Amino acid sequence: MLLITSPRFEEHVTPPGHPERMERAHVFDAAAARWIEKGGRTAPPRSATREELARVHDVAYLDQMEAIAGRAAMLDADTFTSPESQEIALMAAGAATQAADHAVDHHEAAFALVRPPGHHAERDRAMGFCLYNNVAVAAAHALARGLDRVAIVDFDVHHGNGTQWIFYEEPRVLYVSSHQFPFYPGTGAADEVGRAAGAGFTFNVPLEAGATDADFRLVYRDAVFPVLDRFAPQLVLVSAGFDAHERDPLAGMRLTTPAFGAMAMELRRVAERCCDGRLAAVTEGGYDVRALADSLRAVIAVLGAETSTDPQWPEGTVEPTRGRTSVNVAKTLLGKYWKFQ
Ligand SMILES: [Zn+2]
Repeated sequence: MLLITSPRFEEHVTPPGHPERMERAHVFDAAAARWIEKGGRTAPPRSATREELARVHDVAYLDQMEAIAGRAAMLDADTFTSPESQEIALMAAGAATQAADHAVDHHEAAFALVRPPGHHAERDRAMGFCLYNNVAVAAAHALARGLDRVAIVDFDVHHGNGTQWIFYEEPRVLYVSSHQFPFYPGTGAADEVGRAAGAGFTFNVPLEAGATDADFRLVYRDAVFPVLDRFAPQLVLVSAGFDAHERDPLAGMRLTTPAFGAMAMELRRVAERCCDGRLAAVTEGGYDVRALADSLRAVIAVLGAETSTDPQWPEGTVEPTRGRTSVNVAKTLLGKYWKFQ
């Protein structure tokens, strides 16, 4: 596995008290240091080019972002820039693209530890702490390289509205998201399945607050992995948010640290089944720094292991909440989904 990150990710500064804060970059630094100590490989990010960004963002939006480079700005109610933000956000999108290239070229995992996150950023606007849609830039880059089937799996606790809309009519990109629902940003209902040629290539798994490790395991095993296997991606991209963690201050899910490791192993195995291990993950949210550090450690251990093993889901006492999740909705949707294939 290749880890792509930079100490410079702390230079995107948000207002005091903002959850998406520079300390998250220090967690990335510590994770990278530990990975290097173990003999792991890292690479510094390159900046995404305007051409790469323009595949998923409007030119007018890119102009707007260039115009605010070097100064602080408020882009929406909770999205801010500091003087360095434009430069750092280009590195975040570039790192995601590099991770995709590494996975495609070397048939192994790559993990980009970046901020700001990306999955709320839409074609024409910044939103929800996100400036450029890092994972979307990476997916569009993979298509530009000639791939025909790219899957994006987004386990951040929030729905990735930006990623969904960018690829809503695109059959070459399967977007799968599990998220707390109803919740910010309001999108991600089970009946949002894509449009026109993209119908059936958006797969939302809305879960109620309080979902546990067992719920996630159930819903991924019963619904998400069958859909991924059927799609047979040539590259698996992961929007790796850690805010479904039980300690996260923004959301109400109850995932434990080992569950993130198990999820990473499941996805690694999907990539091994479908595309010889081509998996590229990029960080999204995760706002309890200790939970973020612990979860990154678990995921890096799994993606960085020499060989894959059976996913180690925590065998806890907590049963799936069933009625409180949308497992049944997901199963119903699964039937609907197959119609498009
Ligand atoms: Zn999030």
